[in-house]
Amino acid sequence: MATAKPLSRTRLWRRTRIIATLGPATSKRATIEQLMRAGVNVIRLNLSHGSHDEHRKSFARVRAVAKKLDLHVAILMDLCGPKIRVGHFKNGAITLKQKQIITVTTRECIGEGSLIPSRYARLHRDVKSGARILLDDGNLELKVLSVEGRDVKCRVVTGGLLKDNKGMNLPDSDLSVPALTKKDREDAKLAAELGADYLALSFVRSAGDIRSLKKHLKRLGNEIPVVAKIERPEAVEQIDKIIEATDAIMVARGDLGIELPASKVPLIQDRLIEIARNKQKPVIVATQMLESMITNPRPTRAEVGDVAHAARSRADAVMLSGETAVGAYPLKAVQTMDEILREIEQSQRCQDHHNDQPIKHDHHDDSPMRAAVSHAVTSLSRDLDLQAIIIPTHSGTTARVLSADRPTSACLGVSSNERVVRRLALHWGIVPVQIDEDEAHDWHKLSRTIAARFKIQKRGSVVLLVSGFSDDPQLNEPAMKLITL
Ligand code: PEP
Repeated sequence: MATAKPLSRTRLWRRTRIIATLGPATSKRATIEQLMRAGVNVIRLNLSHGSHDEHRKSFARVRAVAKKLDLHVAILMDLCGPKIRVGHFKNGAITLKQKQIITVTTRECIGEGSLIPSRYARLHRDVKSGARILLDDGNLELKVLSVEGRDVKCRVVTGGLLKDNKGMNLPDSDLSVPALTKKDREDAKLAAELGADYLALSFVRSAGDIRSLKKHLKRLGNEIPVVAKIERPEAVEQIDKIIEATDAIMVARGDLGIELPASKVPLIQDRLIEIARNKQKPVIVATQMLESMITNPRPTRAEVGDVAHAARSRADAVMLSGETAVGAYPLKAVQTMDEILREIEQSQRCQDHHNDQPIKHDHHDDSPMRAAVSHAVTSLSRDLDLQAIIIPTHSGTTARVLSADRPTSACLGVSSNERVVRRLALHWGIVPVQIDEDEAHDWHKLSRTIAARFKIQKRGSVVLLVSGFSDDPQLNEPAMKLITL
């Protein structure tokens, strides 16, 4: 077993995971170390920005810092997908006025006046008259009047300043662009080569998009678990099929709140968390969680409420984007998130001792045995007030399944496989622990070693060991053992 370094209780036992996006504000090794010490469980590298060379360096830095701190921190690389953007303007920007008639074109040109170049070459084929074109995070809105060759004539509904490269959303149009672009394929190759722990796919529209990425990864020889970013209306409609095909989902509220009315996002978020848990897949809540901390040292009370809500609805993870990538207070943002999560979890622990809130395992779950054992573990955890649940796991499946039931006791996911251990960092409530292969066999010895290592060796207290779940129902052979320390 690797030598144990004292870990703060804060860092270790917080259940809801924190994902921090790296960027110019957090590129230095010392800053990454601060973030990890403050409790970041997963680092996100956003492939929408930066060169391969920069990502290679960041990746190596994250791994080196985690090794130094003896922490199992996962790296999530995020493919930008078919993000549509406007091109360049002669003076870097134009101003759109309400009711102005303008042209969005797929011709190669520099924009000016009432001409907006689109970097999406199929725009004129995909939009129809009456459709909305949203620009700059939905701050500007156009309505399509007609399509003439490669020019799309529009009326400005909401005007404002439009700068180079701003994003474009087409909420009313079916996009013909493949979900996995040429750039995504090259970026996925980089992720496979570096050995990323998770790979996120943006603007997923169907389960087929996930299957294409998985096929591509298989060909590259590294089957990285995939996170489906739910940010298109079609993805919300197709969620049952997408959740079957993917390994995790992200409620990508930034684009979701542009593609759909923002008022619909909170209920969609709650529904996606419930669906993902029922399918025992991790779910991440992302974007604008502590947005004001990009420029201010303190969050708004509404932001605190937002993070608290995600924790109360028991998402696996909450994500920081601009707050840590480009913000002035990246460390404070992580500390703030950690504080809010711990506050909520403390009250949840008290409630959970009195309430039974099992998840409704999916009716079509082809492994009722897995669901029943998982429920039993959660009940034992509460009824026996277990000191800990120790989960020896080969593939991570047992830890993932048990985590979905959100048991009250501390859970330790134990494996000799470093990659599996790192992936556990995304799951609610699972403390990842790496052991040597031969330590997994004697469960009595393993319990004592782990209890000593994590300072939970209270004499007479009971730990539960659980193992043996598989995604293949034929291979499910769950085993449980209660051991008194
Ligand atoms: C989002 O849109 O909420 C999101 C997470 O995606 P990105 O940060 O890649 O725009």
